[in-house]
Amino acid sequence: AKEDGKNQYKAYSSIRDIKTFKAFSIENSLHKAMGMEEFELYYQPKIDIHTNRIVGAEALIRWNHPVWDLVSPNEFITLAEDAGLIIPIGKWVKETACKQNKKWQEEGLNIVPIAVNISAKRFMQKEFVKNIEKILLENQLDTQYLEIEITETSLMENEELAVDVIHQLSDLGLKVSLDDFGTGYSALSYLKQFKVDTIKIDRAFIKEIGENKQDELVVKGIINLIQSLNINVIAEGVETEEQLRFLRDLKCNQVQGYLYSRPVKAAEFKELLKKGKIK
Ligand code: C2E
Ligand code: CA
Ligand code: CA
Ligand code: CA
Repeated sequence: AKEDGKNQYKAYSSIRDIKTFKAFSIENSLHKAMGMEEFELYYQPKIDIHTNRIVGAEALIRWNHPVWDLVSPNEFITLAEDAGLIIPIGKWVKETACKQNKKWQEEGLNIVPIAVNISAKRFMQKEFVKNIEKILLENQLDTQYLEIEITETSLMENEELAVDVIHQLSDLGLKVSLDDFGTGYSALSYLKQFKVDTIKIDRAFIKEIGENKQDELVVKGIINLIQSLNINVIAEGVETEEQLRFLRDLKCNQVQGYLYSRPVKAAEFKELLKKGKIK
């Protein structure tokens, strides 16, 4: 706020100033958070739609900030990318997921692949695959138990390189999923070249099932096409029985969503793993 002698008034802080300040202080706190163990991984089960069995999990980062409580990962991941912090955070995520899964394996549980989200920026960087290999080796975890989720947009930046990175990952035995499908602009036929194992249909389409006939047709079209390419398909954000029924009728194989389980803490996910299925 500015003040001058003649015209005494207090100007409002501009939204831009607030945003800049907020970004700046989050950036600073992110640095601290790394060292202070404020990050935590939550796990959300991926379910086989026909058997209700847990066939996988997605690891989702949470930031337990001492003052702000929970900060949305959507928000702070972008900031972390801009602040050049995505590499250490991403490394922490992969290491934590692998360590955890190894521990569950040693405890005699039937473990499933845990998927980690890879930031677009990270995916294209040198050493990415090498670092994954190193983490798996250090934790003595079989490569099939780590899965990589990437978004459409991260592939578009450099298609040739993307094809190559996906190849390297599959050669190592890792599974690759294409996240948020339908929100980008690419045609499915075009995606064929990327050879991913699974395509995740974005929640935006699933949300309207039962309410929007057009979206239902889109979902139907997407699922048919994906399956004709022999790619596994999973629906994200399934919240209602109606959505589930619709997807089942379409022979969609897998779902993930609040209807089965929210993302939960490691201890809670362990209990789910013990049962092996939900419902
Ligand atoms: P995403 O990868 O698309 O993850 C799915 C998001 O949908 C998660 O939000 C999850 O909690 C939420 N979700 C799952 N089922 C339902 C449902 O039935 N209804 C609704 N309304 N939401 C559901 P979350 O955990 O807030 O994460 C948001 C985004 O932040 C993720 O979207 C991902 O892009 C990013 N993110 C989260 N963790 C990480 C991470 O470790 N690394 C990176 N690079 N990004 C991450
Ligand atoms: Ca994801
Ligand atoms: Ca997603
Ligand atoms: Ca998303």
